[in-house]
Amino acid sequence: MPVLERLWGPDLRMQDSGLGVGVCPDEVPGSRVWTPSVACAGLSLALEIPTLIRQLRAAWRTRRGDPRGPERSEGSSWVEEEQEEVEKVKEIKQVTDDSNTHVEGMVQEDYHSHNPYHNAVHAADVTQAMYCYIKETKLAEQLTPLDVFLGLMAAAAHDVDHPGVNQPFLIKTRHHLASLYQNTSVLERHHWRSTVGMLRESGLLSHLPADMSQDIEQQLGSLILATDINRQNEFLITLREHLDNQDMDLQLATHRHFILQIALKCADVCNPCREWELSRQWSERVCEEFYRQGDLERKFDLEISPLCDQQTDSVPAIQIGFISYIVEPLFEEWQRFTESSMLSQIMMGHLHKNKACWSRLRYVHTLAETKTHPHAEEPEPQGGQEEAEDIP
Ligand SMILES: [Zn+2]
Repeated sequence: MPVLERLWGPDLRMQDSGLGVGVCPDEVPGSRVWTPSVACAGLSLALEIPTLIRQLRAAWRTRRGDPRGPERSEGSSWVEEEQEEVEKVKEIKQVTDDSNTHVEGMVQEDYHSHNPYHNAVHAADVTQAMYCYIKETKLAEQLTPLDVFLGLMAAAAHDVDHPGVNQPFLIKTRHHLASLYQNTSVLERHHWRSTVGMLRESGLLSHLPADMSQDIEQQLGSLILATDINRQNEFLITLREHLDNQDMDLQLATHRHFILQIALKCADVCNPCREWELSRQWSERVCEEFYRQGDLERKFDLEISPLCDQQTDSVPAIQIGFISYIVEPLFEEWQRFTESSMLSQIMMGHLHKNKACWSRLRYVHTLAETKTHPHAEEPEPQGGQEEAEDIP
């Protein structure tokens, strides 16, 4: 397949795809960066990863009140504080704020800014959501500071160096990562290994004993690999069993880790749980990324992947499938876990409203299609006029 060998650069950034700017090129000077406004618990949050992490850190400290033990110096970093507390390491090498900011900056830079969806804004969005979920009463009091660090770090880095195409595309274009990771969780393993590389380069964990930093790396891997959508059922079944049996014990590190995996999975797919206007933009962006892959596949005479054909896969249809089969089942269980917290109720409210909006839009879309292709038919959506009024 010689033509495809020219597609990939030495890393996960594509060479000129022939489809113009925007498939996966590097920075384009003067391009506009999309910056949706996000707020959490009255906190207006930046969607720039280092700033976001600093804000979440400050909010977490405020929420928890005065830190345990003696006053800490202004200059000590959050990660240092938290690890010092959890691990009770006697002689901790000073970790500077520079080191902390350095790794967050590296994470941000390794996202591809011209991916319509899998870019640093998505990472910041997921980190913000993760922060809100670990603040849930059911969870917050049980988590150790190390758990919080792992959760936020995994959220920030979970899609790092994402190429804007999916695993089947890497396999069919014979990217070396596909064979390296034996066609299994290829992207997620790459995100994890990239994160480990950045952590080691930054020296952020270099003050810890080797076995401890190794354990942190492994836990980050387990969290990031949980975001592989192909493993959805595995996690959902286990979560349901725990909830049915009421045997979740958050005193156990293994159970806390499992719930962090679930929280990260929720954060990764929470777009339909946000307000319509924001949710709609994320939906359009992820579909734009799918369609770009489909255009590439068409150009290189490859089979077009599911959901990637702009001519047959409409945004409303993709979103209804995504909500029905992925997001809704997951958040129904999350709501059970949180014992129907206020946040869960609000998210489920948005989810149902957004689903009704997409149903209405799919109906409108199909009506338009029917005029062109008279045999296409679509039943009028349930939910009625009430929900449809929210469609701009
Ligand atoms: Zn993601």
